[in-house]
Amino acid sequence: MIHFEHVSKVYSGGRPALQNISFALESGEMAFLTGHSGAGKSTLLKLICGLDRANDGKILLNNYDITQLKKQDIPFIRRHIGMIFQDHQLLMDHTVYDNVAIPLIILGKPAEEIRRRVSAALDKVGLIDKMKFHPIQLSGGEQQRVGIARAIVNKPMVLLADEPTGNLDDKLSKDILKLFEELNQTGVTVLMATHNMGLIRRKHHRVLNLNQGRLAGDSQYVG
Ligand code: ADP
Ligand code: ADP
Repeated sequence: MIHFEHVSKVYSGGRPALQNISFALESGEMAFLTGHSGAGKSTLLKLICGLDRANDGKILLNNYDITQLKKQDIPFIRRHIGMIFQDHQLLMDHTVYDNVAIPLIILGKPAEEIRRRVSAALDKVGLIDKMKFHPIQLSGGEQQRVGIARAIVNKPMVLLADEPTGNLDDKLSKDILKLFEELNQTGVTVLMATHNMGLIRRKHHRVLNLNQGRLAGDSQYVG
């Protein structure tokens, strides 16, 4: 599903943010991406969803080399990927419903399909009764769930999450992780960046560890 082949990324003026990264995440897998702040986690996720470009190497998304894509083709990647951010990036002056509907509105989906899909996504994250609220009226955990609903409303093959529990306490973090596991069980490939080792310690998911831009560990291979 996601194949990195010798991928490097250097921001101008800095040391490499990613160096010679190779791994494959197969369809239906769930993996954590760990590493200290500055290790390159966000950069790696941004390369997959086309928010940033690699300097070197190949990234295959479903056997399609996205490093060769033209700028105007990048929206096509986004149709297949749901992205979740730590700060959820919700529109504060829009309702929960509208926030979740946005990806479908952009794609020009019919109103009836939008209604059906937004309801299904909000149902999945347990917020169907808050669809008329504004994000400001919700707790931090609920706001993050709205971000997840927005990411899944288009039924992506892949979910990428960048520190999705970064602002949440332990209990809420576990709830969010459980939600990702449920989505994974429906067949969605999940890659979640986190430095919360406590959260993932008791889990059996694959762990990709970045250290200063290098892939320092992959639990699939070291046991
Ligand atoms: P992480 O998500 O693991 O904290 P990042 O991917 O954000 O790491 O950052 C990796 C490295 O790339 C860091 O040294 C960071 O300072 C640098 N970096 C990230 N984004 C940019 C950018 N837009 N411009 C310049 N340097 C950047
Ligand atoms: P629809 O009637 O829109 O086809 P389904 O009943 O098939 O909806 O799916 C229910 C809901 O599951 C979706 O509307 C959405 O909220 C959530 N979902 C989103 N993406 C996925 C996905 N990739 N895999 C499984 N469920 C998803």
